[in-house]
Amino acid sequence: MSTHFHLICCLFLLVGAGERLSAEGAGEFTDKVQTLQAVAEEFRARLEIPGQIEVRIVDQDKRLVSVRRSMERHGLFVLSFDQSFLTALSAEEQRAAIAHELGHVWIFTHHPFLQTEALANRKALQLVSEETLEKVYQKVVHFGGKKQELPRAQTVTPVAGLAGAAGGQ
Ligand SMILES: [Zn+2]
Repeated sequence: MSTHFHLICCLFLLVGAGERLSAEGAGEFTDKVQTLQAVAEEFRARLEIPGQIEVRIVDQDKRLVSVRRSMERHGLFVLSFDQSFLTALSAEEQRAAIAHELGHVWIFTHHPFLQTEALANRKALQLVSEETLEKVYQKVVHFGGKKQELPRAQTVTPVAGLAGAAGGQ
């Protein structure tokens, strides 16, 4: 009955150029980043992800929310939020978006060859509700992101079925 969408986020593209924090409202940003960082830390611990996560809010991220490996520091993953998109999300939805991205990091650190949107969502659903995740996807679509049907997370086949569901580009 319910529809599943891909969260728009292409992972590990290593295109970090041009990322910068907005100078305006820096104090507010700091608070916001700290809140998001705390969520990321919580989820990182719950998923038993080795390494570190650093949350950043950027002026613009075409993928809206994304995660990549740091080029500068080994073992560090940078989770980036597009500022406008972040503002459009409720606190719960922000948690869901982080959960999805941490799902990608979990895959990378545990099963790098299984990197797909479907599996990232499956990990995310260990942390947040399906309902909230779907709300995030609806906003992704609203922001011009790609909408794709997914099989129900619970029925995703671990290996064989995932290749067909991959659609990160
Ligand atoms: Zn994703």
